[in-house]
Amino acid sequence: MHVTKTIEETRRQLAGAGRIALVPTMGALHVGHMSLVKRAREIADTVVVSIFVNPTQFGPGEDFTRYPRPLENDLAMCRAEGVSLVFEPTVDEMYPPAEVPVEIDVPSLTGVLEGAHRPGHFAGVCRVVTKLFQAVRPSVACFGMKDFQQLAVVRAMTAGLFLGVEIEACPTVREADGLACSSRNVYLKPGERPAALSLSKALREAHQLVADGETDPAPVEWAMRDQMQAHGVAVDYAAVRDPRTLSPVDMINTRLSPVVCLVAGRVGAVRLIDNAVLGG
Ligand code: AMP
Repeated sequence: MHVTKTIEETRRQLAGAGRIALVPTMGALHVGHMSLVKRAREIADTVVVSIFVNPTQFGPGEDFTRYPRPLENDLAMCRAEGVSLVFEPTVDEMYPPAEVPVEIDVPSLTGVLEGAHRPGHFAGVCRVVTKLFQAVRPSVACFGMKDFQQLAVVRAMTAGLFLGVEIEACPTVREADGLACSSRNVYLKPGERPAALSLSKALREAHQLVADGETDPAPVEWAMRDQMQAHGVAVDYAAVRDPRTLSPVDMINTRLSPVVCLVAGRVGAVRLIDNAVLGG
């Protein structure tokens, strides 16, 4: 397995690599990330994992400096999973100090939900994903449905700018109790587990309400919010949306069109997100 730090070396190592699948990550790898790697191996000749804690997608006061960076462990996991190359650039490699900042936006998708609570977050995501695509030049890139809005933004950006990269959506991997695997789960204190679990519980409740015939999104949103608040979560949002546009829906009819339930909130110092697609 090659480990590269520069774009030039990455391109040199990947010359003649055939069909390349890229799995972009911020490291602190877990089984969720590795499910993307496994999928990448199925659909390409060469798997590249990028590990880059991208400063431009963190807001002031967010956890950029204390984000976990267990690089040796990450590399061992990649090696064990048959990754061909890990691209682990420095901040200066991705954002040369002399660079004139470039911004890419998908305004209808980036101003809502996560975007409303984390101003500038998706501008940073769009910027780094485009740079990673140019550095690695993959045929396909794997993204997790765990970050549903990110997936929607990346899909729209890739299509809208003719970037020529297929986007492969991979299902959310959960721990045995339902908590979505996340690099940020390591910050959770033992007593905070029930609060963290209330996000997936809220989504299961939404699923049940809709299965029982609820067609109005408002009571479903209230139920999700109540579930999380009852466990002491500071709720940022609990929303039922159109999975493609992320716009609110007037009515739920999952036989006609799927909806996505999205939740976000803070458990102590840890901000967690989760989602579930109903129907489709
Ligand atoms: P991150 O390192 O958190 O930026 O995540 C890198 C990629 O892994 C993103 O495409 C995430 O959506 C995906 N990912 C993170 N957690 C999970 C999970 N629990 N299940 C599936 N994919 C995930």
